[in-house]
Amino acid sequence: MKERIEMEQTQGGEEAERRRRVVVVGGGIAGSLVAKSLQFHGDVTLIDPKEYLEIPWASLRSMVEPSFAERSLIYHRDYLTNGRIITSSAISVTNTEVLTSEGRLVGYDYLVIATGHADPLPVSKSDRFKQYQAEHEKIEKASSILIVGGGPTGVELAGEIAVDYPDKKLTLVHSGTRLLQFIGPKASNKTLDWLKSKKVEVKLEQSVDLKSVSETSKTFLTSSGETVNADCHFLCTAKPMGSTWLKESVLKDSLDHFGRIMVDENLRVKGHPNVFAIGDITDIKEIKQGYLAQKHALVAAKNLKLLMIGGKEKQMASYHQAHSAIALVSLGRKEAVAQLPFTTLIGHIPECNTGHGCFYVNAAAQEIKNRKVLFKSSPTNVHGSSKNRNGYGGEESMEEGWELRKVPSGPDPLHHNGGSPKKPTTP
Ligand SMILES: Cc1cc2nc3c(=O)[nH]c(=O)nc-3n(C[C@H](O)[C@H](O)[C@H](O)COP(=O)(O)OP(=O)(O)OC[C@H]3O[C@@H](n4cnc5c(N)ncnc54)[C@H](O)[C@@H]3O)c2cc1C
Repeated sequence: MKERIEMEQTQGGEEAERRRRVVVVGGGIAGSLVAKSLQFHGDVTLIDPKEYLEIPWASLRSMVEPSFAERSLIYHRDYLTNGRIITSSAISVTNTEVLTSEGRLVGYDYLVIATGHADPLPVSKSDRFKQYQAEHEKIEKASSILIVGGGPTGVELAGEIAVDYPDKKLTLVHSGTRLLQFIGPKASNKTLDWLKSKKVEVKLEQSVDLKSVSETSKTFLTSSGETVNADCHFLCTAKPMGSTWLKESVLKDSLDHFGRIMVDENLRVKGHPNVFAIGDITDIKEIKQGYLAQKHALVAAKNLKLLMIGGKEKQMASYHQAHSAIALVSLGRKEAVAQLPFTTLIGHIPECNTGHGCFYVNAAAQEIKNRKVLFKSSPTNVHGSSKNRNGYGGEESMEEGWELRKVPSGPDPLHHNGGSPKKPTTP
């Protein structure tokens, strides 16, 4: 028989009973922030198949430096102190309940869907550490490595390995005509030049037949008949949308043909006034980036707070899609390629705490490395040209420090303890 979770109390008393039930499905960048923001306003339940939030942009560094993962895997229970956590996958939804893979029915008044991309990861944090350790050993032992996929994941992984292990032979095979197709061609070209400067062999417009590849493969055939020999390989290809579980549900007609959830300007699922969707899973036409997913979370949280106290729908906040989103792709420990609204930059990133204006990938907050930060950029600090999109030689004129990960008005999941500079809890 299905276990029904209705109004289990996270806090006793009548006050808790009156609180509206908010179920958040997906404990990634967007879901964790909305759950954290609402935990003292509603009766919040977070459903996620992992017991931790993983910061995706730290995952590639964690492969070359596993200890890094200690700071980028955060137990849900550490930031969701006043909510219920169900470690499970959602497999369907009705107008009133979410069904989980082990048969629980979780009732809701409001639902927030934040299932991003499907990326099955170990349930426990310790198993995720072990996975990083295994990937690290794989890299350490190999003399030659093949990376399949030239999107941000493939490029960042190539950058991490090329910088930490300059003697390993690296090959990157990408089916597209250019690397990093989600941003402009200038950024792609600069990235290609950077990788070549690190002796990474990049093969564009070629794919690897993944069906013939196993974990022990050492010879790989590309679509144009070339052979790549490598001691190990990493697949960095696009991940499917995390919406398969909705395909037979009451929300099936709310999916577009890419499997993304169609939302209105208030981030509610069209035709479902008590259901919100945020993050990569939405059909919002903008680059899929974590800092935008966080913005979605804050808009949804604001609207839910309003609705939960009986506020008028017309007073809800609207989300304004990013037309000229910023994208930053790390290239090893100290460099990055960045596409800003009017320019593309690539270069070495000095330490911001030197007092110089800079643009860098290391942490401004010393305890979290690999935070990508835009900071009073000046062309003299960036090796390489900085022409703007109109082709004019561009002076970069960012006047203030601004952390890319951080929504200016809200908390960063890495600072899940309310913006306190205290280090996130580590195991
Ligand atoms: C390698 C890499 C580097 C990146 N670098 C940057 C960067 O530098 N800057 C930036 O802004 N963005 C970056 N991004 C993009 C950013 O990580 C995503 O835009 C962001 O994670 C989207 O957040 P989300 O909450 O929508 O989805 P996710 O963070 O993908 O979270 C989805 C969550 O849903 C859960 N889930 C999935 N299916 C189910 C289900 N059926 N039931 C319950 N839970 C489910 C998953 O377990 C996961 O916790 C990077 C991404 C990657 C992969």
